[in-house]
Amino acid sequence: MSHTHDADCIFCKIVAGQIPSRKVYEDEELYAFHDIAPWAPVHFLIVPKTHIASMAQLGSEHERLMGRIMLLAPRLALEQGCKPYPEGGFRVVVNTGAEGGQEVPHLHVHVMGGPRPWARG
Ligand code: 5GP
Ligand code: ZN
Repeated sequence: MSHTHDADCIFCKIVAGQIPSRKVYEDEELYAFHDIAPWAPVHFLIVPKTHIASMAQLGSEHERLMGRIMLLAPRLALEQGCKPYPEGGFRVVVNTGAEGGQEVPHLHVHVMGGPRPWARG
């Protein structure tokens, strides 16, 4: 499967192995890796291998891809040590655009969890 690769994109470089990362999961179209600056005891990112700048660029052709990410999140959260629902759990965040707090313009889903307190709210 071929993916759109942006030579200037840090997450495209991570997907391509040009920048090292601590891999959590990989398949043909998705890559997951530990966040370099975790906000929680468990904090990893799930990204599409193909370059999509943000949620704002999504179209109906991405329905399956985004569905796969959302189904992968709970599975990987458990594998990474989050306790099961309802006592455990995790938080999913997708920052989008400058006012949404997005710093890396390659769509990524944050999955955060572990014993609290680790974040507000
Ligand atoms: P954003 O603010 O765009 O939603 O989140 C970007 C996330 O990517 C941040 O949590 C940041 O710590 C993480 N990050 C940025 N650069 C790297 C990197 O080179 N490696 C890894 N593993 N995470 C990164
Ligand atoms: Zn990219």
